[in-house]
Amino acid sequence: MEDHRAPDFPDLVFEVLDGLARVLGNQEGRVFLYPGSGTGAWEAAISNTLNRGDRVLMARFGQFSHLWVDMARRLGLDVVCVDVEWGEGVPVDEFERQLAADPTIKGVFVVHNETATGVTSDVAAVRRAMDATGSTALLYVDGVSSIASIDFRQDEWGVDLAVTGSQKGLMLPAGLGVLGVSQKALAAAETATMERCYFSFADMIATNDLGYFPYTPPVALLHGMSASLGRLFEEGLDEVFRRHHRLAEGVRRGVAAWGLDLCAKAPEWYSDTVTAIRVPEHVDGAAVCRIGYERYRTSFGGGLSKVAGKVFRIGHLGDLNEVSCLAALAAAEMSLADAGADVPLGAGVAAAQEYYRDATRDLAPVAVAAAPQSPDTRRTA
Ligand SMILES: *Cc1c(COP(=O)(O)O)cnc(C)c1O
Repeated sequence: MEDHRAPDFPDLVFEVLDGLARVLGNQEGRVFLYPGSGTGAWEAAISNTLNRGDRVLMARFGQFSHLWVDMARRLGLDVVCVDVEWGEGVPVDEFERQLAADPTIKGVFVVHNETATGVTSDVAAVRRAMDATGSTALLYVDGVSSIASIDFRQDEWGVDLAVTGSQKGLMLPAGLGVLGVSQKALAAAETATMERCYFSFADMIATNDLGYFPYTPPVALLHGMSASLGRLFEEGLDEVFRRHHRLAEGVRRGVAAWGLDLCAKAPEWYSDTVTAIRVPEHVDGAAVCRIGYERYRTSFGGGLSKVAGKVFRIGHLGDLNEVSCLAALAAAEMSLADAGADVPLGAGVAAAQEYYRDATRDLAPVAVAAAPQSPDTRRTA
């Protein structure tokens, strides 16, 4: 265990917090890091900024949006929940209608990338709807499976609370909840009355300002975060987003070649970090996952709750490249075939290969250092 009260510890803390602010596009507010996971950062966002009984507007279209609604209710919020078909995203027009009709709404909640269905929603459009109705509500965004993989702009989109965790786009083991907070949300925290203790912004600010934490932080994960941020900045965030788009598009081409449909109902919602695939009627999606794991040592995501058995998911975020995605497609083809689907082996892989060959043609080649001459070569010469 490294000394987290050491005089040089703040160097690491400031570096990591600054780097995360860059990833979030948050230069105006501040970033908090909690030992925990994305779910802990959800709770930190709510408990610091709202009061019991506050009315909030949420939409439910997948397992993660469902769980956030559940948490909000259990914490005593008065949740107006818009149910949307799974496979669609945040209903911006309906949100605008609700906000216009009810100026008492204190918070608007958006799951940017619904990991259960492979659906990405338009956060900027939600902000425009809020502004159009003159809403003064805070905007809460779950970016757990988008941040650091899909473009995210906290300041520009007016996101007041932005949530993620260490184990997805940030490429680390689980154990850190990340929360980007706007100035408006920091001000709300000073008057909000919901109970909070471990997640208190005020306690965090008092110690973070000096480069420390109010309690023991997971020091190894802070070093890991420093390494992850270094990798993201070395590749360049724009290039990271382009890579995720390219990888996802190849996976989608593969799925199309199988003749299967995505869970996401329209291209505007296609996620660049996870693809949820509808299995044929007579095939059990859970069997595809089980076979993938047991025979091919490959972890696919299963269908959760409403889409259990109907979909399986290929995750493609973080530390991966074209070849990782081709391997996933190959394993998926074998698992689908073993589970009884009429999927021609190699079809999806070939479609993705064609796309990747084309899409990588203009990328800068990876710099390869000149091989040192071996003593043997010199002797021959
Ligand atoms: C993984 C995930 C979560 C849950 O985060 P934990 O780190 O497991 O608590 C929340 N929302 C989304 C969109 C996720 O993908």
